[in-house]
Amino acid sequence: MECPNKETNQQSCPCTWPGCRVKGTCCECIRKHLKKRALPGCCFPKDAEASFDRSFEHFARLVQSGKV
Ligand code: SF4
Repeated sequence: MECPNKETNQQSCPCTWPGCRVKGTCCECIRKHLKKRALPGCCFPKDAEASFDRSFEHFARLVQSGKV
């Protein structure tokens, strides 16, 4: 089923992963990341997002350091 919000989501999606097949389909994006113990790019500040490290551990370090 095509997501009715996909185009709108794509416009505001900060993820810079090149050629991402789920960009804008947030439910699939979240599902894909959680399977890998990770979070979507939009959970991370711009500089952290650009590292492509989406792990829970990276997010936890950002929280610990007050960056999130
Ligand atoms: S959940 Fe994924 S597709 Fe949706 S805005 Fe966040 S990074 Fe983009």
